Amino acid sequence: RGGTAEREVPFAQPGSLTRVYAVASGKGGVGKSSVTVNLAAAMAADGLKVGVVDADIYGHSVPRMLGVDGRPTQVENMIMPPSAHGVKVISIGMFTPGNAPVVWRGPMLHRALQQFLADVYWGDLDVLLLDLPPGTGDIAISVAQLVPNAEILVVTTPQQAAAEVAERAGSIAVQTHQKIVGVVENMSGLPCPHCDEMVDVFGTGGGQKVAEGLTKTTGANVPVLGSIPIDVRLREGGDEGKPVVLTDPDSPAGAALRTIAGKL
Ligand code: ADP
Repeated sequence: RGGTAEREVPFAQPGSLTRVYAVASGKGGVGKSSVTVNLAAAMAADGLKVGVVDADIYGHSVPRMLGVDGRPTQVENMIMPPSAHGVKVISIGMFTPGNAPVVWRGPMLHRALQQFLADVYWGDLDVLLLDLPPGTGDIAISVAQLVPNAEILVVTTPQQAAAEVAERAGSIAVQTHQKIVGVVENMSGLPCPHCDEMVDVFGTGGGQKVAEGLTKTTGANVPVLGSIPIDVRLREGGDEGKPVVLTDPDSPAGAALRTIAGKL
């Protein structure tokens, strides 16, 4: 909409009833997107109106994980988001040809996020989840500017080295005066398929460490909202666009994710 004034972000207006969660992680590959899509699907299955903004500009994977194959359409001057499993989704990948990489810089990312929040027709959402890129980059700062009331959900693995990076990503909340809603520990052990024992592939304690560290730096209580085990069904669900919380809600990972969704 060249030349026209920027539309306001509805979720940032006083009186907005939409809860906005920005899902953050220190580094990639810890399951941030998997957690985002499963929480979204679980909340939609519970009857909430849910939207997801795939703001992981360089690693956008939300549409595949949710099985969204529709494209956004334009009605008047609004973008209509496609949806799957009752979740409305907008992703940078929907606006780039084929599998082309995104080579944008800060200002363009900010503009894209602004449009995703203000120019997409979301309707009355109960919850909006933002899948952030890993780390403490431009997008996290843009989110803080565009939706200051967004609460941060930090995803980490149990690994101590991963926890340190995740804590750094979460501590940006101090500078931006945002609330951290809690920490999710993912890949918390692999239940042995042959016996009842848990194999701690990535060690233990990362979630607790991040929660304690962030409680200290923010001065507010940051809880561990839950731990999700390593589960082949979760990975398969992501590859097939069928979130495990829907296909196998009582599997260990599915149940853990549904419990976390219930706390948000
Ligand atoms: P991120 O968004 O942090 O980069 P992803 O959600 O893309 O991470 O997850 C990285 C990979 O690990 C994906 O292939 C995903 O299916 C897999 N994965 C994530 N969490 C689990 C889990 N708890 N059990 C099994 N596989 C998982």
